[in-house]
Amino acid sequence: MQENTHFLSRRAFLRRVGFSAGAMLCGAAAAGCGGGGGSQASSAPSYSPNLSQFTPNYGSEITLDHWPALPVRVYFTNDITVTPKDGRATRVNSVIQTGFSRWPAATGGVVGYQVVTDPAQADITVSVTTVPDPVGLSETGKTSVRTGTEGSLQLAIIEIYIWPDITDAELTQGLLATATHEFGHALGIAGHSSDAGDVMYILHQPGQDVALTARDVNTVKTLYYFLF
Ligand SMILES: [Zn+2]
Repeated sequence: MQENTHFLSRRAFLRRVGFSAGAMLCGAAAAGCGGGGGSQASSAPSYSPNLSQFTPNYGSEITLDHWPALPVRVYFTNDITVTPKDGRATRVNSVIQTGFSRWPAATGGVVGYQVVTDPAQADITVSVTTVPDPVGLSETGKTSVRTGTEGSLQLAIIEIYIWPDITDAELTQGLLATATHEFGHALGIAGHSSDAGDVMYILHQPGQDVALTARDVNTVKTLYYFLF
């Protein structure tokens, strides 16, 4: 998915949060997809979210993906503790999980996740990477997903970026917004809101948190309409 880099360059004080859809191994048009030897799966219900069921939402602005089953399983490849010059030692994964947990908190636990310790069991893999120059990179996080038929998610990879001169506000506030945003992608929000107030807007201030809005929550409920 192409990001709008022209817009970014005019607002360089904001950090971009990236998203990309990986190669579809199992496209809708692929015959025999799913390893069934040519026979059709008969019991899978059709995925047909209704954009007017939970409003307001930005479902019309994005591609609607979803995990076939929840809670989704999350594996953390590393766990880094960072001490900013102007703050206290902070476990990055605890900030990330605080951000992730906002989605289940806002959906009555329906859109939930569990942490697994075996990478082979993971639906979503999370890694924290230290980058030398966040201004040059202009990205605080990135999520890649692979989907099968009808927007059914098969795996997601979340990359969270930190940098050596990160400030306390960037670590404890900005990272919270990044983690919430990237988990929104990993849950199936394949694209961005056009409203700058939403967590799923493409840009955010590096040292500021962003709360989930009603539009964000209604959009994820739209993805998982079959569970509400
Ligand atoms: Zn994004």
